[in-house]
Amino acid sequence: MAKAPNVTDEGSYRGHRVLNKLTSKNLWKIGSLCAVAAFAVKQLSMKLGKKTAKLAVAFRVDDGKSFRLKDFDPTDRNGLESKQECAELLQHNFTQLTDLQDKLYAQDQWAVLLIFQAMDAAGKDGVIKHVFSGVNPQGCEVSSFKQPSGEELNHDFLWRTTKRLPERGRIGIFNRSYYEEVLVVRVHQEFLAKEHLPPHLITKNIWRERFEDICNLESYLTRNGILVRKFFLNVSKEEQRRRFLKRLEEPEKNWKFSEADVRERQYWDDYMAAYEDMIRNTATKEAPWYVVPADHKWSMHATVSSTIIETLKELKLSYPKVDAARSKELEAARKALLKEKD
Ligand code: ATP
Ligand code: MG
Repeated sequence: MAKAPNVTDEGSYRGHRVLNKLTSKNLWKIGSLCAVAAFAVKQLSMKLGKKTAKLAVAFRVDDGKSFRLKDFDPTDRNGLESKQECAELLQHNFTQLTDLQDKLYAQDQWAVLLIFQAMDAAGKDGVIKHVFSGVNPQGCEVSSFKQPSGEELNHDFLWRTTKRLPERGRIGIFNRSYYEEVLVVRVHQEFLAKEHLPPHLITKNIWRERFEDICNLESYLTRNGILVRKFFLNVSKEEQRRRFLKRLEEPEKNWKFSEADVRERQYWDDYMAAYEDMIRNTATKEAPWYVVPADHKWSMHATVSSTIIETLKELKLSYPKVDAARSKELEAARKALLKEKD
């Protein structure tokens, strides 16, 4: 008498039938669908890659001689039409950034210093939050520089930032930097008086001298394998006004409002003159400035992240190679671990 199939047999019988159907009829369809999908993903990735490269060069200033701030429009979106398009690009960049940062860390040779300077409410904090979300926190350090402390004022003007330079394998992010020393300190020269400098060193040449010192520092860093890239988030005065108003009108943004920021607006033209002179004197091939339009936050995020990706790509990063002797050691360790399982 034939034995009735039990539940397990029935299940595996059905499973076989499904598998047979798949192998004989549909497998080629699934295969070709996968190939089409892989091709589409590759095409999209290439398209986004090209966009990234284009965005990275658009606002680069690596020779400051003829730089004029008025040539850079804060409302420019550089062809990025929609929020959706920027979100797609950011997502693509996240994946790349994770991979590049992992290699940077593993290789342990280069360091990258990213400097962010801007007027209040231009979105420095937002850029740092959005561009670096998802990045391994071990490989990345943010330092913010506010009004200097008594101890900091008792040192040379590069002291406090030098202490925060990134170690090899890391990305250091400066939220404000030594550039404040030729910006806020230039606009409000009473700050200079607090720096304990011998009076005869404070001459009309002091800003030119500071530019020179900064350029020398950045050359020194570059020659030591620390790549320097500088971002000026270029917001318009009108957009800043709108953002301050929002901070007053939307309760969840009230905490961001500061009367001091509004007072600083009175010096807008002085700041713009200081920024222009700073970029003219410190934009170099080895440490370029990126004058990123900041009136549209989403295109600003996409531009900054694209620039960072292209910068990291320049380093041609790779995981450290394992030599023959090390390979042997690894194989021995593998065998020992496998044995343990037995
Ligand atoms: P947020 O407002 O998002 O917290 P922030 O960078 O504007 O960020 P604030 O505490 O509001 O932080 O401002 C810091 C202030 O410190 C800025 O006005 C800046 O110009 C000032 N500052 C930074 N460096 C120096 C310096 N070396 N000398 C004098 N003032 C400085
Ligand atoms: Mg502020």
